[in-house]
Formats: sequence, structure tokens, C-alpha cells
Amino acid sequence: MSILVGLRYTVGSIANRAFELTLPVTCAGCYRPGTTLCGDCRSALEERLAAGSSGAGTIVSKPPAALHQLEWCGRFEGITRRALERFTLGGERGISEPLGRAIANHWANTGTDADVVVPIPTTSVRVRQLGYDHGVLLGRVAARRLDLPVPQVLRRTPAGFDVLEPARIVGRSIVLVDDVVVTGATLGAAASALLAAGARAVSAITVARDDSHARQPMLALAAG
Ligand SMILES: [Zn+2]
Repeated sequence: MSILVGLRYTVGSIANRAFELTLPVTCAGCYRPGTTLCGDCRSALEERLAAGSSGAGTIVSKPPAALHQLEWCGRFEGITRRALERFTLGGERGISEPLGRAIANHWANTGTDADVVVPIPTTSVRVRQLGYDHGVLLGRVAARRLDLPVPQVLRRTPAGFDVLEPARIVGRSIVLVDDVVVTGATLGAAASALLAAGARAVSAITVARDDSHARQPMLALAAG
């Protein structure tokens, strides 16, 4: 490493540390300082997501036809919502662990066969803001626990999704992983792209279902 690059590296680290010091870390559940998710709140989150709900057919109208099965671990409220917002908006990537584990546990109990996990990629704008792809992180944690491969074959396009390296999913049964389902439109678009590229079947699981727009279907459709 050149002296100049080394110096830039050091200055960058100091700047990051100063930034962290000015923003005290607090628990996503109880706002206790010093941790992103304290032991009590981690247990509460895991308990809530384990209670879960299996819901194919009860989403705003009905799940997208392209999906063989649709599951979520819990409702988008309370500590589940706060943990998801810290993870997908607040840059707290460590929260991927309890959320990804909840997905794996729920899928292990309710899922039909799947031999590949495919994460829904986050928009590039959000990845730049956060410094990571929260969808990919969730997928990796879940796949590791389910002992399944997790090829990142989806790419967002203005019209929906492209499938990169279709050979990796041809003839495979896929479970899509995402953070929240509202109408299922995003999951449906991804499933359609994967089926068109040769996947045998596509199901999906998310951490939570947001049904706060359920009585305003037009708004829900707009939210995707
Ligand atoms: Zn707490």
C-alpha cells in the first residue's frame, strides 16, 4: 500500500469513527444505548417472528399467479417494523442475522421443496445510501441456515427484473427472499422473470407483511 493510499485509509477510518461517536447506538426495540438490538429485544423479536403467520391467499387481493407459495414471518409492526427499518434504512447490517434466521426457521417449517435461495436485490440508490444490499444479506443468512446455494441472479431493470446466468436456475425450485411484502407485485415480477428463464417453480418468503394499505388498494398497488 502506498503512503498516500495508506494515509487516505487512516483518515477515512478516523472520520468513520468520529461519525459513529456522534451518533450513539441505541437498541431498535427499547432505545437502550450501546447496542443495535439488546438481548431482551432480540428474544422478543425472535419470539414474535417465530409465532408467525402463513398467509398465501390473504394478501390484498391474492398472491401473484407466478408464485407457488408465499410466506411471511410476522406483521410489519412493533419491534419487527423497527428492526426492519433500522436494517433497511438505518444502515445497521448486523440485524440481518436475527431476521435471516427467522426466515430460515419459518421456511424450514412451512416451505415446500426449494433447492435454491434467490434474494430480491435492493435498488442501486438504496445500496449506495446504505453501503450494502439488505436483500442479499437477508438471503445469505437464510441460505446459510437452510444449507442452500444463494446465486444472485436477479438484476433490477426499469420494467422489472433480468435473470443473469440463467443456467444457475434452470430446472430449479426457487425460494425468493425479501424484507417486506405489500402487494406481492415485486415478488411476482421476479418470479415471472425466473420462470421465463427456466426455473421449475418459484415461491417466496419475507420477514414481514405490511397490510397497512389493505383498505386502500390503489395506494397499495402504487407501493408495490
Ligand atoms: Zn432493547
